[in-house]
Amino acid sequence: MIYVIGAGLAGLSAAVSLVGQGIQVELMEGAATAGGRCRSYADPQLGMMIDNGNHLILSGNLSAFAYLNQIGAANSFTGPKDAEFAFYEIPSAKRWTVRPNDGLLPWWIFDPSRRVPGTHPKDYLSFLPLIGSGAKTAAELRQRDDVLWRRMLRPVLLATLNTEPEQASPHLITAILLGTLGRGGKACRPRIATPTLSAAFIDPALRYIHKHGGNVHFGRRALRLSFDGWRVSEIEFADRRLPVTRNDAVIVAVPAWNAKALVPGVMTPDDHRAIVSTHFALPPPPEAPVMTGVIGGIAEWIFCFPDRVSVTISNADRLLETDREEIARDCWHDVARALGMGLELPPWQVIKERRATFAATPAQDHKRPSVVTAWENLFMAGDWTATGLPATIEGAIRSGRRAARLAQRVHPA
Ligand SMILES: Cc1cc2nc3c(=O)[nH]c(=O)nc-3n(C[C@H](O)[C@H](O)[C@H](O)COP(=O)(O)OP(=O)(O)OC[C@H]3O[C@@H](n4cnc5c(N)ncnc54)[C@H](O)[C@@H]3O)c2cc1C
Repeated sequence: MIYVIGAGLAGLSAAVSLVGQGIQVELMEGAATAGGRCRSYADPQLGMMIDNGNHLILSGNLSAFAYLNQIGAANSFTGPKDAEFAFYEIPSAKRWTVRPNDGLLPWWIFDPSRRVPGTHPKDYLSFLPLIGSGAKTAAELRQRDDVLWRRMLRPVLLATLNTEPEQASPHLITAILLGTLGRGGKACRPRIATPTLSAAFIDPALRYIHKHGGNVHFGRRALRLSFDGWRVSEIEFADRRLPVTRNDAVIVAVPAWNAKALVPGVMTPDDHRAIVSTHFALPPPPEAPVMTGVIGGIAEWIFCFPDRVSVTISNADRLLETDREEIARDCWHDVARALGMGLELPPWQVIKERRATFAATPAQDHKRPSVVTAWENLFMAGDWTATGLPATIEGAIRSGRRAARLAQRVHPA
């Protein structure tokens, strides 16, 4: 038996991978629903299903698509056929669409209609040394060309790192650039879960786990682990103690701040950044791009769904104490201009996720532990473990699948 604690994407991907190989799994989730920081719910204020916040993956996210293919949900996504990123700059009212070509040779940078206005091919070519000479800080990248930085690189890095790029780990910045544009447009097609996150990432996974004989328990918060030598011997919940026998393994797939309570002495990231998401119950114009980057506004990325428009603001700790209606009004002002909609504020909802991701700084990146622990039958998974990526869906799923591979050695099928 393998016990997986936490049914966010890391725990779900571990459980899916294990049951798919005929291994018995008990998945214990402390909350009433699965999904963790990637979830959907019926919002009473808007009278519709919404996501806690917009989540973007790219066609080149290999672990995410391996998971989605396994649970049969790879088609539950919308997005343009090719890599396309629409932008709207509020101060200049200028629009453009960045369209990297599919292949590794980036000929798109020689086509003014595909690159960022006001930039030149040499601005992009100056990034080539990234491939050979290793990590670069935001300051080093920024010196290269200010327009490219402001109109494309900064917004993309800010959204992916959820941290001011100037403070971010050079290794994580490089991992993002090489893992996306560095692999050509084919790896960069934006993919957005539709109609909701849960419909794409969570519900099909729960069905898959049940169908393959796994059990999922909700409202089952693990409080403590007990150890016998170099093995976990018991998981303690509020109402029971679960013995962990010789052939059993445990995967702790809870957020960093909860892992500390379960895994003695574990070092984890301890500085987090907020994301503020604003949802508007009004269908967007039919021609609106599925996703628009906004430059120079409070809104940073606008996502369009058939029944609603949602806005993401990253690294948003500055807004945690701001009145929610004020945030909604300011965001709508940007949305109305970017999408050409009326200025009257539609029904809205604002969700502030205080600890959306760990801060992607060098200091925090150094605190990320391996999936392996000092105990031979205990493994960890989560976007905060040492995945080599910032806190993302791809990282969470990658860690879950890796923990599953290692736990299997303790408990072969
Ligand atoms: C608003 C927002 C927008 C985001 N946008 C993007 C995006 O566009 N692209 C992207 O790639 N990533 C994005 N992310 C990041 C992504 O959501 C996370 O990286 C990912 O969901 C983390 O999954 P996880 O399983 O590691 O952790 P979690 O989702 O935190 O899951 C942990 C689970 O463990 C449970 N748990 C905690 N303690 C216990 C316990 N003691 N016992 C049992 N269960 C417990 C929790 O209830 C939770 O279900 C975003 C995050 C947020 C918040």
